[in-house]
Amino acid sequence: MKKHIALTFDDGPNTDTTPQVLEKLKKYGIPAAFFLVGDNITPESAEVSRAAFGQGCEICSHSRTHSVMTELSPEEIRAEIEFTDNKIREITGMAPRFFRPPYIAVNDVMLDVIDKIFIAGIGAEDWLDEVTAEMRAEKILAQAKNGSIILLHDMRGNSKTVAALDIIIPALLNDGFEFLTVSELFAAEGVEPKRGIIYSNVLQTDMYWRR
Ligand SMILES: [Zn+2]
Repeated sequence: MKKHIALTFDDGPNTDTTPQVLEKLKKYGIPAAFFLVGDNITPESAEVSRAAFGQGCEICSHSRTHSVMTELSPEEIRAEIEFTDNKIREITGMAPRFFRPPYIAVNDVMLDVIDKIFIAGIGAEDWLDEVTAEMRAEKILAQAKNGSIILLHDMRGNSKTVAALDIIIPALLNDGFEFLTVSELFAAEGVEPKRGIIYSNVLQTDMYWRR
């Protein structure tokens, strides 16, 4: 049976690194999902996200201001989500289905207020400049399993992650993985995503421990 996996990118969009990521995806003929920070969506960067969407990528939410949302009131949380939903609607015509909490910081209030599926992922500390492209690739490849959601960052200037893609993608293709969007990954594994699970792998069933 074919293994499935999703590449996801946080903290965009922008007009330098995001287009470089899109070039790599085109080169290998695969999709990915982009979790956008609402305040990073400008007329110029929205065009880049529109191109990503046109290329078969999924557009998701990563809040408006990238705050630690566990410190926000329900009203502030709602405002963060609505702002970015509206910006994304202008790009794709629909509100995003998936949400990645900034810093993967989650509490009960967020789970109650945010009517989306929460996504975490397997990471590589790819926001740290001292982590080389090779180390980023190694960390991801060591954790990659059927159903995994790979969490990388297309933040401005993050060229080492762009370089790491030339290691990660061919290695996983050779290993028999098919790259999908997050929606497609759930569908391929026959999983109906549930609220209350913070997914790093779509086959996960452990619920977030409410306090
Ligand atoms: Zn982030």
